[in-house]
Amino acid sequence: MREKIMALALALAMMTGCSVKTAVSSDKDYSSETENGTSSSASVSSVTESSAPETEMNSSDSKAESNDVTNDNGGKEMKVHFLDVGQGDSIFIELPDDKTMLIDASEKEYADRITTYIYSCGYSSLDYVVATHPHSDHIGGMADVIGSFIVGNVILSPATHTTKTYTNMLTAIDQSGAKVTLGIAGKEIFSDGDLSAVAIAPVTEDYSDLNNSSVMVMLTYGDKKFLFTGDAEEEEERTVTADVKCDVLKVGHHGSSTSTSSAFLAAASPEYAVISCGMGNSYGHPHTETIDKLKKAGINIYRTDLQGDIIMTCDGEKITVNAEPSAAGGASSGESKSETTKASTTTKVTATTVTEKPAEENPVSYSYVLNTNTMKIHRAGCSSVSQMSEENKGYTNDYDGAIAQGYEPCKRCKP
Ligand SMILES: [Zn+2]
Ligand SMILES: [Zn+2]
Repeated sequence: MREKIMALALALAMMTGCSVKTAVSSDKDYSSETENGTSSSASVSSVTESSAPETEMNSSDSKAESNDVTNDNGGKEMKVHFLDVGQGDSIFIELPDDKTMLIDASEKEYADRITTYIYSCGYSSLDYVVATHPHSDHIGGMADVIGSFIVGNVILSPATHTTKTYTNMLTAIDQSGAKVTLGIAGKEIFSDGDLSAVAIAPVTEDYSDLNNSSVMVMLTYGDKKFLFTGDAEEEEERTVTADVKCDVLKVGHHGSSTSTSSAFLAAASPEYAVISCGMGNSYGHPHTETIDKLKKAGINIYRTDLQGDIIMTCDGEKITVNAEPSAAGGASSGESKSETTKASTTTKVTATTVTEKPAEENPVSYSYVLNTNTMKIHRAGCSSVSQMSEENKGYTNDYDGAIAQGYEPCKRCKP
């Protein structure tokens, strides 16, 4: 099992933003590093009380070789990966103590991508899995993902659902043997020195819909705070009594205008905002109102629909991002209700055109280049791309999303 994981890691590390060091170092001196990893993780686990001992063992096993990732200050790094999973959320976090956390698992069709991504980072276990709320764009891939890893703890919204997707997730959790806790305001997920994760919502079970039962997680490392909001809308935002001041805000409900109220944004006052949504989605996410609000507040915006995986590295004092902020606008929420496929295509074209420059300068890798004029989708390396006019270029990792938008595969590069 471990060899299989490492082989996968070697093969895939170059394709993701995970620590390549993990895969490379394992090639040479795997056995001795395994010992290091085991002892290091064991010492961490002795001061952490929230996980079952069994999980600690498994965790040490799976992430044996990358415990030595340090920054210039000698501090360990935390990596937060906002995965490009179409119209949904999935955030994978490499904690500085070598443990892992996954918040949501998008739709079922993205389960393989999420699993492969985490494997490629060198992990075969997930210490903490948060399912923010029972909608399929957050838990659709959960059953498959949970079934693919050794899972220590699962944190669930108090809201339940009757869908097959939801019951499948419960079955997978049951079979995994993971410890289940309800993520309600005040619930500590873990706390170890300057590293902690706490649920700050939902505060009440009196919510109007599932979105407003989203488990909101405040992750703190040193001086830096990341706030993950699931699909929480204004109604849930208003109920939060905990301090929401943060450095990074995972914007609620894919950038919908029903979330990120002015009061909440003012209280959170983040430096960075990340919006997870699918290109050309039928909801018109993110909405113009939200984008305008964020821009007006001078917040750096990152978008998975236009920029692919967004990876933030934090040493407890500073945060670095793998991309330049997005300059693109959003779609009007007023129009989105009557929006046809055609209308959302127009929205997307406008958006991708605006972001073409950062795409060339930053290290975010795009798998596909769109010709918004001919409506063809090309592999990034296709010879046609160099002949394409800049203003017609769009970038994406979401092949299915582009096809759904009416793009046709290039006959030359056959993506
Ligand atoms: Zn959602
Ligand atoms: Zn939802």
